[in-house]
Amino acid sequence: HSAVDPWPEPEERAAEAALRPSTLEEFEGQPRVSDQLGLVLSAAKHRGTTPDHVLLSGPPGLGKTTLAMIIASEMGVPLHITSGPAIQHPGDLAAILSGLVEGEVLFLDEIHRMSRPAEEMLYLAMEDFRVDVVVGKGPGATAIPIEIPAFTLVGATTRVGLLPSPLRDRFGFTGNLDFYEVDDLQSIVTRSSAMLGVGLDEASAHEIASRSRGTPRIANRLLRRVRDYAQVNNQGRVDLALTRAALELYEVDPLGLDRLDRAVLEAICTKFGGGPVGLSTLAISVAEEAETVQEVAEPFLVRLGFLMRTPRGRVATEAGWRHLGLTPPSSGDN
Ligand code: ATP
Repeated sequence: HSAVDPWPEPEERAAEAALRPSTLEEFEGQPRVSDQLGLVLSAAKHRGTTPDHVLLSGPPGLGKTTLAMIIASEMGVPLHITSGPAIQHPGDLAAILSGLVEGEVLFLDEIHRMSRPAEEMLYLAMEDFRVDVVVGKGPGATAIPIEIPAFTLVGATTRVGLLPSPLRDRFGFTGNLDFYEVDDLQSIVTRSSAMLGVGLDEASAHEIASRSRGTPRIANRLLRRVRDYAQVNNQGRVDLALTRAALELYEVDPLGLDRLDRAVLEAICTKFGGGPVGLSTLAISVAEEAETVQEVAEPFLVRLGFLMRTPRGRVATEAGWRHLGLTPPSSGDN
């Protein structure tokens, strides 16, 4: 596991839960989503109804689960958590839905990975608070309608485009979470350090925020690693020099690139003359699965403008060469 992996490590869950903001007020950044969601919730409270179904989209670690918890806690109701891959049969979904109590919130993570028949059952449940349970098989099968209590569905997906439009259309509100600004991440790190009892100065909080790839999960993780490093080195207060030394040890560079990102970029520049190079060749040259290169390293390199995907393969940009301290071939200043 790299220190800047956007997915949570299993043993990290409890540490994450402890740092979760529990109100919209405490939720940093994402002003648009936060304001709009605030409106949806106050309108529902005002009318005394359950809020519209909410769809949250965005890369891992940006706060989708956190927002689902906030929605439930702001409405003063329990949150039920499940995920698309856990619902393979419509019966699984029917059981969950009929177990809900009026007004409760159901969080359905990775909603794009639900099976087709379950998805169709969900349409009806979202619209009419009803499910049709099919009893029997073949020509004798009958659909028995079952009323379910009014509830709020909070669906989460990495990309809205992965959802079929009939499903998308049944959400009253869609919030697209984007990578965070460094300032917002710095506020998150500062708040977390206070909760963890780590004495962290402003420059260190800024440094951690800058290396966190726009992702709160990574910011909190790097903070915990810096804290560990400080403890082992018997240093009470964390300053910039210590923060930098710790992050260097964990191989996170000043822009948040880790060893794999650098290896990919370096391979394109030094082994393939800057590209284009195909994904599988590239993956073999860094001894990594093609999928990991494509889903973990590339999106971040593309976002920084260090790498381009072209029909003929991956190409390093001039900025990519320069980040490695190399001179791009066509720049003429060598
Ligand atoms: P995944 O889909 O991978 O579970 P997610 O988008 O649901 O990711 P969360 O689990 O909600 O992400 O957030 C990860 C961590 O980041 C949590 O510990 C949470 O406390 C923190 N976090 C996320 N967003 C914010 C925020 N806006 N303010 C403060 N902390 C945040």
